[in-house]
Amino acid sequence: MNTPLSLTPLIGEKQLLNSQEQIEKAQKIVLVTHLSPDGDAMGSSLGLYHYLQDLGKEVRVVVPNAFPYFLKWMNGAKDIVVNTYIPTVAEAFIKNADLIFCLDFNTLKRIGALGELVEQSSAKKILIDHHLDPDEDFDVVISYPKISSTSEIVFRLITQLGDFERITSTVAECIYTGMMTDTGGFTYNSNDPEIFEIISMLLKKGVDRDHIYREVFNNYSEQRFRLLGFTLSQRMKIYPERKASLIYLSLEDQKQFNLTKGDTEGFVNYPLSIKGVLFSVFIREDDELTKVSLRSQGDFPCNKFAADFFNGGGHLNASGGEFYGSVEDAISLFEEGLEKYADLLEESTI
Ligand code: 5GP
Ligand code: MN
Repeated sequence: MNTPLSLTPLIGEKQLLNSQEQIEKAQKIVLVTHLSPDGDAMGSSLGLYHYLQDLGKEVRVVVPNAFPYFLKWMNGAKDIVVNTYIPTVAEAFIKNADLIFCLDFNTLKRIGALGELVEQSSAKKILIDHHLDPDEDFDVVISYPKISSTSEIVFRLITQLGDFERITSTVAECIYTGMMTDTGGFTYNSNDPEIFEIISMLLKKGVDRDHIYREVFNNYSEQRFRLLGFTLSQRMKIYPERKASLIYLSLEDQKQFNLTKGDTEGFVNYPLSIKGVLFSVFIREDDELTKVSLRSQGDFPCNKFAADFFNGGGHLNASGGEFYGSVEDAISLFEEGLEKYADLLEESTI
């Protein structure tokens, strides 16, 4: 079996030794990830879950709310504890844990009601993440914003712990899924050659990448497809002089299409296929708040835009935020933002 000698070591010696010690000492381990778990949240959690289970640990993945249907095929997904479904079970696992891994988020605010439970738990806490500005109140912080997915960091952690041989095809499949989804199928944030070295190693472990691609990207419901058509034809505005686009959906729009969890996942990326558009925003009314998703290509910092106008943040090219008010008001705020950012947008290139 190949060992990944060609990879540049990423994780510092201290974090590595600390993680090793905590894993060795712990018996009951809980893995938590962010609200509305995406492919990387699920991939990093489930990848680490299988690895730790194979080490003989008692492991649980606990998520704040439901994950999308196109990730249900993942090995271990059916054993995930969803806090909104069985909060007492989620609470018990977190309370009894000796060690908690926090995956794919940088602050406990990103895990909703689980945040308080994790904060109060006496378990040791290890953060593994790739978002900017991580909170420091963890026992170990493994945070690398330059790495395009948390799943890749999990791969690097396991290999740097000397356990490349322990990566099974199941672990590899989970890690690959997260790496694929956080880079839009390796179409952005994916210029690091080591990503492809890792993919090569994962393929040798038995990952079927064509199968994973189909499960995630070619597995949508008819209603999602029709909703996408409606959104692009009826709910899209282009701002050519600002190199920007907006799509938006009200609760009413979503009701008409019988929306289920995950049906609008990825919509925000489509307008970036239009020539000249380098900034795309999606405003979606939810039950309690209006969710804002932002994407950019090139050097335009959509995380800054999210922070300035929508109380959010994230990565340079993929960020999110929220708005308390109507879709119309959120659109007005977005358009004000475009004017304030006119110069920066003017200078931005892909
Ligand atoms: P998405 O648009 O897929 O929901 O989120 C894209 C990225 O934006 C996430 O990976 C996360 O980094 C960030 N993000 C999404 N929503 C929020 C939010 O409400 N606050 C902050 N700070 N970041 C967010
Ligand atoms: Mn991620």
